[in-house]
Amino acid sequence: NLPPGDYSLDLHFVDIININGPKGMRVFNVFMQDEKILSDFDIFSIVGSEKPLQLVGVRVAVKDDGILVLKFEGIHGHPVVSGICVRRAPKTSASQLDREFFVCKNCSTEIELPSAQKKVMRMKSIAKYEKNIQELRNMLKQKTDECYQSWMSWTSANEQLEKVRMDLDNKTFKAYSLDQTLEKQADKLRDISSKYEHDQKSWTVAVNTLEQKVKVMKREHSQLSREAHECVDSIPDLNKMVFAVQSLVDQCEELKVKYNEEQIKRRKLHNQLQEAKGNIRVFCRCRPLSKTEVVSGCASVIDFDSAKDGELGILSNNSNKKTFKFDRVYTPKDDQVDVFADAAPMVISVLDGYNVCIFAYGQTGTGKTFTMEGTEVNRGVNYRTLEELFKIANERTETYTYNISVSVLEVYNEQIRDLLAVETSKKLEIKQASEGFHHIPGIVEAKVENTQQVWNVLQAGSSARAVGSNNVNEHSSRSHCMLCIAVKAKNLITGEYTKSKLWLVDLAGSERLAKTDVQGERLKEAQNINRSLSALGDVISALANKSSHIPYRNSKLTHILQDSLGGDSKTLMFVQISPSDHDLSETLSSLNFATRVRGVELGPIRKQIDTSELQRMKTMLEKVRQESRSKDESVKKLEENLHNLENKAKGKDQVYKNQLDKIKELEGQIELKASLHCQSEKQVLSISEKLKAKEEYCSTLKQKVMDLENKLKQQEEIQSITYQNKVNDLENKLREQVQQSESACIILQHKVKELEGKLKEQEDNLECLSLNQKIKELEDKVREQEKQLAENAREQEKQLEDKVRDQEKQLTAETPFSLKSTPVEESKQSLKEESITNDSEHRVLRSLSHQINRRGSQISSHTVVVKESESLQEIRKKRLSRNSEVENNSSVVVSDNNNNNNNNKIRHSDPPRPVSRVPRATAKPVVAPQRPVAGPVARTKTSRDPVQAVKERDSKKRMWSR
Ligand code: ADP
Ligand code: MG
Repeated sequence: NLPPGDYSLDLHFVDIININGPKGMRVFNVFMQDEKILSDFDIFSIVGSEKPLQLVGVRVAVKDDGILVLKFEGIHGHPVVSGICVRRAPKTSASQLDREFFVCKNCSTEIELPSAQKKVMRMKSIAKYEKNIQELRNMLKQKTDECYQSWMSWTSANEQLEKVRMDLDNKTFKAYSLDQTLEKQADKLRDISSKYEHDQKSWTVAVNTLEQKVKVMKREHSQLSREAHECVDSIPDLNKMVFAVQSLVDQCEELKVKYNEEQIKRRKLHNQLQEAKGNIRVFCRCRPLSKTEVVSGCASVIDFDSAKDGELGILSNNSNKKTFKFDRVYTPKDDQVDVFADAAPMVISVLDGYNVCIFAYGQTGTGKTFTMEGTEVNRGVNYRTLEELFKIANERTETYTYNISVSVLEVYNEQIRDLLAVETSKKLEIKQASEGFHHIPGIVEAKVENTQQVWNVLQAGSSARAVGSNNVNEHSSRSHCMLCIAVKAKNLITGEYTKSKLWLVDLAGSERLAKTDVQGERLKEAQNINRSLSALGDVISALANKSSHIPYRNSKLTHILQDSLGGDSKTLMFVQISPSDHDLSETLSSLNFATRVRGVELGPIRKQIDTSELQRMKTMLEKVRQESRSKDESVKKLEENLHNLENKAKGKDQVYKNQLDKIKELEGQIELKASLHCQSEKQVLSISEKLKAKEEYCSTLKQKVMDLENKLKQQEEIQSITYQNKVNDLENKLREQVQQSESACIILQHKVKELEGKLKEQEDNLECLSLNQKIKELEDKVREQEKQLAENAREQEKQLEDKVRDQEKQLTAETPFSLKSTPVEESKQSLKEESITNDSEHRVLRSLSHQINRRGSQISSHTVVVKESESLQEIRKKRLSRNSEVENNSSVVVSDNNNNNNNNKIRHSDPPRPVSRVPRATAKPVVAPQRPVAGPVARTKTSRDPVQAVKERDSKKRMWSR
């Protein structure tokens, strides 16, 4: 809805955020009312940094429809416009343009001139003005050249300054690196020194501990040597002791020999004693009347009056007292202990290597089994014998080792049965292994080591005996139960081996059965029992009578007992009798058998035997007993003595050995400690050497650090001096330049005065009246130029001073250096066609652009103002073409012939900026602001990239070479 007419349009493009982005981030065309006003508009390439961009004074005509079309066509990225300012364009009066009157300056009267004259005047004035303009242009060119030269010198100075700065940078960098290395070295040094201190401390501690150890070792060494000396001193004592021990050992040996002799003697004596007692001894034991017998009123027929003398009287019906004599007679009151007391010496004989046979003979029910086996509460001869055997064997452990095994047999119907064997069907036979040694191959010999095992074996045997029989008592009474204890002895002193056997036999019942009562199996049993028992009787009587032939092989029983009956072997027979008058005949029969066995018939005839002889024998026996006892005692004492001596000798030996070991240990310790001492001393030496080396290294490092510090100081001093000199030079140069420019100004003023004079002359001419105005304008221009030059010079001076100050501050801080981009300077009207009216219009527009420019500068000092009306490419091209010309010190009004566009836009130029033209290596020539010197960012950075700096320098060089 805009009212129709001409409008002036400003476009405000936004800030470009990514200042270092690639070129062509946003490239676009701008159309106004379908007319392209900007083509390939590249904001980044124009502005180049964070600056707002304004496109001002775009003239546009709005038609009757009141529409203003503004179009952006993106080529790259998106155009972003922050503001559009549309305002009415000031109208240029067409009448003014068409006026053909000159207005008198003095009277303001309009003077109309004829066209021919006008033409001539115009031609003249134009020629004049052209001349003047040419002169002024030449002056300007001259001035520009001068300025350019001064600028060049300034730039060279700048370059030098840059170089100096680079040097300074390098030096600073070097100094910085040196600082860093110095710091590192200082750190290292600190580390090393701390390490050194730490090491020193640890070494001192180690040395102290080692010294302490050495002291302790020395002390121990001295103590050990003292002990060693003591040991050495005690060697004679030891020798004495050794001798004593030796003598003791000798004594011991002697004693051993004696002991052996005594042992042999003792054995002989014991044997003699046993023999004296009789190798075959018969003890008679009478059981008490059983309850049934007492109940049935049986009477005792046994007279025990002289039982102590081994005599037994039988009271028969005819009151004839028959007396029997045995080695011992036990009354019913005598218990198992009494019975065994007489059998016990047999055990010693067994352990001495003699064969022994103990058996119980008698009628069934008279107590054979009771005597031999006994009950658990009242154990019999079997158990007690073995108990005694172990007891004595344990007593003799130091001189003898015994190996005891037990076998249990049963002889029934002339057949041998092993009661310990698992397999009972095996037939066992008696074999003669060697002279005087018979054995039954395959018989089980249970090894026993204690009484518990013995008891177990006995139990096993008795239980095995029960197997296969309905009535245990019946069966047991018709078979012989035989317990064989085999003893293997080793004399530890003499190394002698002996092998002996002890037979404990529970014989079958001796009762004679009436032939009519017995038939079949029972008869066979009875016959076998009779045969075996009579065979036993025969053998024993033959032995008693010292008969040449002893009929052992008449029965299995005698055959088995062959080794234990006769010879050196001892035989003990318990004749069991019943006191009952019912069993009288059997009792008499048993007693008769026993008497026969004993080989001494006691009877009326025997009564006449001289008792004095018997008495003498008894006293002798007693004496022998006493002797043997005393000998036993003395032997025991001797044994004890020997034992003690042996122990003592062993103890002494042990002490001697211990002492020798101690001496050796001490010697070893002394050697070890001495070696340790040597090692520690060596360690101490090596440590002290290391310490010395480290100290030397530290001192050299310190020296190096000092040197480096000195060098750094020197370098700093030299640098500061050189910088000061350079700054002074630059200041001098600057002064010279200022002076030169001032002189140039003076010359220019002179020339202007001359021109003024000339102009005044011309003013006198009426023809020249019209030109007065223009001359004044030119004067104004010149003044402006002068002012601008002066301003430029001042600005440059200021900038240089600032820079110098900055440099002096070692480029550590920098004030933002703002630059205004040079606007595109372009005109679409040719100079030749330029008329007075155009000129006046130009002035008006220029002032307007000045105003705009001022406003722009008020908005932002970084604002870049671009005049629209042609493509930037064209602008750039023109700018480049004019690079050779002098044009950067004034705003020039130009008209472009090539432009067919009716919009005659006037370009406004900023005050000249020497480094405003930067050739870019791009396809599109651009006008971009460029900093004359290295930017503040680059300068503030101490660690600036040298490559970047070199590039900057090169670009500047290229710029000026162009
Ligand atoms: P045998 O074996 O000769 O046939 P036993 O030993 O079986 O005779 O004895 C028969 C009974 O007589 C058993 O009950 C036993 O306890 C008892 N007896 C045997 N001798 C004595 C004794 N001296 N004192 C007490 N009781 C006895
Ligand atoms: Mg029995």
